Amino acid sequence: MNRDTIKQQVIEAIEAARPRILALGDELLHTPETAFKETRSAAIMRRELTSLGLPCRDGLALTGLRADLRSGRGGPTVALLAELDAIRVPGHPDADPVTGAAHACGHHAQGTAMIGAAIGLTAAGVLDKLAGNIAFIAVPAEEVQPADYYADFLRQGQIRATSGKAQLILEGVFDDVDAAIMIHAAAAAGIAAGCNGLVSRTFTFHGRSAHAGLAPENGVNALSMLRSAMAMIDAQRENQNPADHIRIHGVVTQGGLAENIIPDKAALSLLVRARSLDAMEQAAAMTGRCARGAALAFGGEVTVCGTPGYLPLRQSSLLLEIHKNNFAQIAPGTPFAELPHRGSSTDMGDISSIMPALHPYSGGAAGTPHEDDFVITDPEAAYVTSAKLLALDTIDLLWEGGDVTRALAAEKPLLTRDAYRRRFD
Ligand SMILES: [Zn+2]
Ligand SMILES: [Zn+2]
Repeated sequence: MNRDTIKQQVIEAIEAARPRILALGDELLHTPETAFKETRSAAIMRRELTSLGLPCRDGLALTGLRADLRSGRGGPTVALLAELDAIRVPGHPDADPVTGAAHACGHHAQGTAMIGAAIGLTAAGVLDKLAGNIAFIAVPAEEVQPADYYADFLRQGQIRATSGKAQLILEGVFDDVDAAIMIHAAAAAGIAAGCNGLVSRTFTFHGRSAHAGLAPENGVNALSMLRSAMAMIDAQRENQNPADHIRIHGVVTQGGLAENIIPDKAALSLLVRARSLDAMEQAAAMTGRCARGAALAFGGEVTVCGTPGYLPLRQSSLLLEIHKNNFAQIAPGTPFAELPHRGSSTDMGDISSIMPALHPYSGGAAGTPHEDDFVITDPEAAYVTSAKLLALDTIDLLWEGGDVTRALAAEKPLLTRDAYRRRFD
């Protein structure tokens, strides 16, 4: 059988499973859980994968799991990824009434599409024509949570990275993987040229408290240091190159205890984003200089903590060509938008820094991501078409006798895996 016949067989297997796929999408939608706590969603994914004869390794990055479909013939390992987590949007119509978590970023569509793809790829005769391995990986914790959300996980040594994909890389789960694909829900099918990376920085300013009316001369105002640091950061925005897409934004998490006490402690939590690793590191270093400069000026001190965050997303041109061809075949006449670089971030950037990776969008969603109104309005596009695309892209990458391995190897990663891991030392 030739490749088109096999592809058609896979499409038919997925279409025959449409009721199961739609029901799974609904089940995951109503199981919203936040980062590193996606135990029920993981159990659903484990149930679905094992029912297809794919045993799972679980407990990866706490709640993640991986199942492999091996051809028994040498070739690359392609990972299909599905993010497990939801975010806290208590006003969302599908929010968990207790935790406020909701799938307001549509990650439930990813698990649904991954299982749909697994249904297609495990159909009779398909694996016989492929070489290499397919790794189905359910990944926790894509969404950025407030810095203190991770404190217990980090203190107890359960994680070293605050993003699920980074933690999985540190645990070696991607060590044998050659390329990775996931599809994110969006209003229309397409792809962004890339996404910003981000680093998180929390600056805690230390001064000396004093009675603000009786003896203010005895105080060193930590809140004043914080305000000055913010003013200096703001003043340097004019020196930023627009091509670097720098975004610096944050919140004051501590600003004093009472109006009549000069604050001896104030804390500023920032996210620093940029298009490239260099620009990101330079912008983060600038925020550090501002914080230290402000503390010095007031005679106080500043301590800093932070995480390496997420790396900028680089889309693989080889995977994109394959994906666009399959999209044109499955959804003829539907536009596939090639969008400019985005200021937002995803930890798929970390994966894309160590191997060829693709992070396109499906159609089928409406509303604003992370808001009350973000919903999947077209499950056919978000679930079923995405399942077909993941499966067909995999077939093109693993078709026996194909020369994709060489083309994948020609796409040089930004970092070696060891260099990546050293960022967390
Ligand atoms: Zn999101
Ligand atoms: Zn998302």
